[in-house]
Amino acid sequence: MATGSEFGSYNRPCGWCVKAVKWIPVLFIVCVIIWSYYAYVVQLCFLTVPNFFEMTLYLIGYHVAFIIFVWAYYQTVFTPIGTVPRKFKLPKEDLEKLLHADSEEQHRQIIEGFAASLPVTNRTVTGAIRYCEKCHQVKPDRAHHCSVCGCCVLKMDHHCPWVNNCVSFTNYKFFILFLGYALIYCIYIVLTSLQYFIQFWRGDLQGMGRFHILFLFFVAAMFAVSLVSLFCYHCYLVAHNRSTLEAFRAPIFRTGVDKNGFSLGAYNNFQEVFGDNRACWFLPVFTSLGDGIVYPVRSQHHSGQYNSIGVTVNSEVPEQGTGFGLMQVV
Ligand code: ZN
Ligand code: ZN
Repeated sequence: MATGSEFGSYNRPCGWCVKAVKWIPVLFIVCVIIWSYYAYVVQLCFLTVPNFFEMTLYLIGYHVAFIIFVWAYYQTVFTPIGTVPRKFKLPKEDLEKLLHADSEEQHRQIIEGFAASLPVTNRTVTGAIRYCEKCHQVKPDRAHHCSVCGCCVLKMDHHCPWVNNCVSFTNYKFFILFLGYALIYCIYIVLTSLQYFIQFWRGDLQGMGRFHILFLFFVAAMFAVSLVSLFCYHCYLVAHNRSTLEAFRAPIFRTGVDKNGFSLGAYNNFQEVFGDNRACWFLPVFTSLGDGIVYPVRSQHHSGQYNSIGVTVNSEVPEQGTGFGLMQVV
């Protein structure tokens, strides 16, 4: 596992082996997708469907679902994670002081002194500023350290081995679209291959190709069942403006724990991830609002201390208001 150092992890030969192993789940998914394409297009449509009109219709629908699904998957896998800007990194002199701090209190004061000008509202359970001991930097709101990526990731949701990437601020929209389109892709295959699946059991299909259709139906149905709960769960999280990590451990603000601290109402929460341009909502292009560092919070968490970022996000957003015009100002 890649841990610790931001740069050194892959310099050793074993580091490269680890890097290669991490691609195995992605390779597995790619193989399943390629096989499903062959099984559907060649075995089902070209060699089994008897009616030309039906075949054309199936192929058109299939390719639309296939292209958008693969596009969303590609974007989820290859979008770089959002990393923390340099201004959150503790300067050398502060770091020296921190290493020689005699007490917890002194440690806390050094970080608080440095973070006074930073736009952070989240706190630890003890009420301290969130600080990453590995990256030596203050964590922006909703950012967490990912031990697999070896760095702090903006609005980290979880590290997903199936995409070999952190699902976070930069690719969260792509991830949800990937789940949604994968589900549509599987359901489409199940529905259009159903009658041929029945023919198989009746003994009406001949040749070895019929086994491809049998497995295609089973695999698509199995993936659809496992995807539906995950997709619904992430729709719920979007509606409540929570990451998976925040669903397990509610964010803490100066005023205390608040699981709905970032929630601005379902529609605004949706826009925060999918953007304000309806035409792009369901396309795998980046349209999420904000910069991944500062987020609108509910009014009770406002603080006058952070006016250095202007009359923006953290000081102006009403409890259930539309924080998005303001977010774009940041
Ligand atoms: Zn970190
Ligand atoms: Zn990660």
